[in-house]
Amino acid sequence: MHTPTPGQQPGPYRRTAGWRRRMLAGAAAGPAAQGFREHLRLGRKGLAIGVDIGGTKVAAGVVDAEGRILAQAKRSTPGSDPRAVEQVIVELVEELGEGHRIWSVGIGAAGWMDLDGGTVLFSPHLAWRNEPLRDNLQRLLRRPVLLTNDADAAGWAEWRFGAGQGQNRLVCITLGTGIGGAMVMDGRLERGRFGVAGEFGHQIIFPGGHRCECGNRGCWEQYASGNALGREARELAAANSPVAQELLNAVDGHVERITGVIVTELAKAGDPTSRELLEDVGEWLGLGLANLAAALDPGKFVIGGGLCDAGELLVGPARKAFARNLTGRGFRPAAEIELAALGPNAGLIGAADLSRVSSRMHS
Ligand SMILES: [Zn+2]
Repeated sequence: MHTPTPGQQPGPYRRTAGWRRRMLAGAAAGPAAQGFREHLRLGRKGLAIGVDIGGTKVAAGVVDAEGRILAQAKRSTPGSDPRAVEQVIVELVEELGEGHRIWSVGIGAAGWMDLDGGTVLFSPHLAWRNEPLRDNLQRLLRRPVLLTNDADAAGWAEWRFGAGQGQNRLVCITLGTGIGGAMVMDGRLERGRFGVAGEFGHQIIFPGGHRCECGNRGCWEQYASGNALGREARELAAANSPVAQELLNAVDGHVERITGVIVTELAKAGDPTSRELLEDVGEWLGLGLANLAAALDPGKFVIGGGLCDAGELLVGPARKAFARNLTGRGFRPAAEIELAALGPNAGLIGAADLSRVSSRMHS
């Protein structure tokens, strides 16, 4: 396991109202860095539950201090009512808590959390608006609860246990229906001044391009996500091009059923058209990464999320486009681009670990 570099100011263990904010906004490299290092030593036996709230399902797991999942459970996401979602979380924690001594609970969800980690400011799938989720859950679960953005949780997990270990400037990209982003810099999650950093999917990469859910046009996630892959494939199939025959066969001619997952499967099976479609998406991916490298200069990009099932069929073209568009290419070292190591459980592993790390530090 990678041990982060400690900062210079060893602080005493104290319970303060701001510990979660510091944890998420910079504890590991700031005044509490000594505490963070101490946690990593003390916390080896601690178990935590991570909960990943998605648009369709809520996945939870008991995670040990080495990032291993000891038990798992799942439920359907019960609509968008916050109380119903809380109830599902409580049921999952109670179910998984039997037979395990659980220290803390980490919740990862799409959306923006305030820097204190107590309130969901906005969640696209769940109708949460200024929802004080953490306090509600702490009352119900009687354990420390940490709330975090799902992409941040996945990025943290990759840094701690996956493809980002040992990196002091790491950028993680999660490619799914959209694009999630996370930065782990000097051993801490970088969340920006207001807690909403890392929205790389909404960098405008093609002014006037496809309309995005965020309201703008031409966002990166309209070109380099699983949804973008599906949309491009449907457009090609709808044009009745002979090159789309395999795609059409796979859905019995029902163009609207073509998804990014189907294209990825066909590409892996060797369909040249599906490979081209993935190559296009990979090129957009590499172009966006070059923009991020110009701004952030990371040592490595870790690429995760469902679309990564495509493996090198996606990341190969991304590396080429990245090299071709990198500012100062030929005169500077270039970041590595690597596939994520932890798969679809990265979010719950990271949420659990963040909750365990922060609660160990301050109890
Ligand atoms: Zn957008």
